[in-house]
Amino acid sequence: MSILICPVCSAELTPNVKSYKCKNNHCFDISKYGVLNLSLNNKSSKKRHGDDKAMVIARKDFLDKGYYNPIKTAVITLCEKYCKNAKTLIDAGCGEGYYTNSVTDVLKLKEIYGVDLSKDALRYFKKRNETALPIVSSIFKMPFEKNEVDFILSMFAPAAYDEFLRVLKKDAYFIKTKVMKNHLIELKQAVYDNPYYNDEEPDEIVGFEKTDEIITDYKTLMFGEDIKKLFLMTPYYYKTSETDQKKLDLIKKISVSVSVKTVVYRKM
Ligand SMILES: [Zn+2]
Repeated sequence: MSILICPVCSAELTPNVKSYKCKNNHCFDISKYGVLNLSLNNKSSKKRHGDDKAMVIARKDFLDKGYYNPIKTAVITLCEKYCKNAKTLIDAGCGEGYYTNSVTDVLKLKEIYGVDLSKDALRYFKKRNETALPIVSSIFKMPFEKNEVDFILSMFAPAAYDEFLRVLKKDAYFIKTKVMKNHLIELKQAVYDNPYYNDEEPDEIVGFEKTDEIITDYKTLMFGEDIKKLFLMTPYYYKTSETDQKKLDLIKKISVSVSVKTVVYRKM
């Protein structure tokens, strides 16, 4: 039995050798990179679907250097505390799977899914997480049965709370990072004339109970290329003019505030 459902008709999807199929004969291929494409709008290749390749590589390089290790440690601590018995994990907005990988190292999971719109990111995800199934899909309409999932990870990704509520089992957890006011403020000060602080999301989420949190707040010294790579990872990148982005090239080193909280929620 599979917890995956067809994005067209919502019937159960059954795995074949190189594809998944539903009883109504909707068939979805697994690419040679091991990525299952369940997205229904691939035709418009001009439209950007998820992060492009340059961003994916920038993020991978940056994360591999360990600048965000304390965040990873917070996630591991919380998932060891709350998700020890989880068998099924969805990393919703998994990117190239840096956090998925650290979580799956410490849990005894049976099924691991990475959901993202970026095929490029999912190719790297598969390299980091060989036993996982990367799926091209929106996180706002995930191809999973309701009430079947033990644990969702949502790291620096948009929050699809209604979907989390639908697919998680009762009493199951999701873990999410939320950026705090000062997060990366020095980076914004370097680029913008009027740098702004982040708005902090409220803690309350309908249908969930906040169970725990770890605040990770530190400064880290970054050099040269890494500064630009970090900027590429952020949502600010899209909102910033080329002229402003060029300002980053002139910075040789900078001390940056990393300020996030990792929150655990239980489905009520
Ligand atoms: Zn179908």
